[in-house]
Amino acid sequence: MGPPGKGPLKGVKSPKKDIFGLPGNMKGFSDKIIDWYQANKRNLPWRRTTDPYYIWLSEVILQQTRVDQGMSYYYKFIGAFPKISDLANADEEEVLKLWQGLGYYSRARNLHHSAKYVSHQLGNRFPSTYDTILQLKGVGQYTAAAISSIAFNEPKAAVDGNVYRVLSRVFGIRTPIDSGKGAKQFRELANKLIDRKQPGTFNQALMEFGATQCKPVNPACDTCTLSVMCFAKEKKTVAKFPVKEKRTKSRNRYFDYLVMKHSGGMVLRKRAGKDIWQNLYDFPLIETEKQLSETKLISTGPWKQLLSGKKFSLGKISATYTHVLSHQKIFARFWEIQLKKPLAKPGQDCVWIKKSELSRYAVPRLIDRYLRSDL
Ligand code: SF4
Repeated sequence: MGPPGKGPLKGVKSPKKDIFGLPGNMKGFSDKIIDWYQANKRNLPWRRTTDPYYIWLSEVILQQTRVDQGMSYYYKFIGAFPKISDLANADEEEVLKLWQGLGYYSRARNLHHSAKYVSHQLGNRFPSTYDTILQLKGVGQYTAAAISSIAFNEPKAAVDGNVYRVLSRVFGIRTPIDSGKGAKQFRELANKLIDRKQPGTFNQALMEFGATQCKPVNPACDTCTLSVMCFAKEKKTVAKFPVKEKRTKSRNRYFDYLVMKHSGGMVLRKRAGKDIWQNLYDFPLIETEKQLSETKLISTGPWKQLLSGKKFSLGKISATYTHVLSHQKIFARFWEIQLKKPLAKPGQDCVWIKKSELSRYAVPRLIDRYLRSDL
């Protein structure tokens, strides 16, 4: 436990420990959570399987994604790739296209990479222990614990944001959850609490409890099975848990897209490099430090370079679209460039396509929003 009397919890003491050096209110926690889960769990498709491939798919899809949104993607993926070998043999573009709209596209690329590894190197046998699952690209401690406990009954606690919240409130833990010390402390506690006979059920129960009962805002304390043992409820400090130490910094970016068109055809650009939306398609782009006036943008070097040698007339300029990512806020305008003839050489990383072919290309949600409003 962190020291009492600091920060937002000034004056609130941590709970007493029992003779094992554990919080005194730990006993009965696991049984209560599992009983609650059996009575209240949502009927979700990935809970009706112990196939590690399907559990892995669901866990990756549900990172950063709400269950109701993730559900349709889960069905799309298992429909298109019922076996891990189907995913391994797919083109990356096909995988990204199916992922379109979920964001955090590195998840899809890592899924594809790991499916190829399991299929080609391990003969389609999904690794069956926490340590070997952890070797898969894009799989962290949480996901490895979730898969190994649910599919292989290995007693490893899966600690996600829901679990941090429940444990910090019930046990009055004020160590910041975004610190290395906090991550270790919460993982150790969860591994002491886990039901060793049914670790997968325990992990799912604790996550479900955090998602639907002990919610970030307005948790249902009045009907809570843990209320008699909950430190934060007793001290009336529920809203102060969990404690975080860092504020996530966000940066603003200013994009001006040149949408070059001619008679039902247009230019798309494949995004390369280490930036956001790697390998997805957008349009030729000018990025600036701040939003420039229209006359200033037209006089910049990148504008002249992108349109050099091209005959065109300037069409509509869109209003500014705002697009928020986890650490970035993007302000984007779209400039319609009506070319006098199609481009034989559309430029580096660019392709000339017909509008009717657009559905074959995976695009970021920002571009999808523009295309839907424009076409
Ligand atoms: S009493 Fe409230 S804060 Fe405590 S575990 Fe239950 S829902 Fe969460």
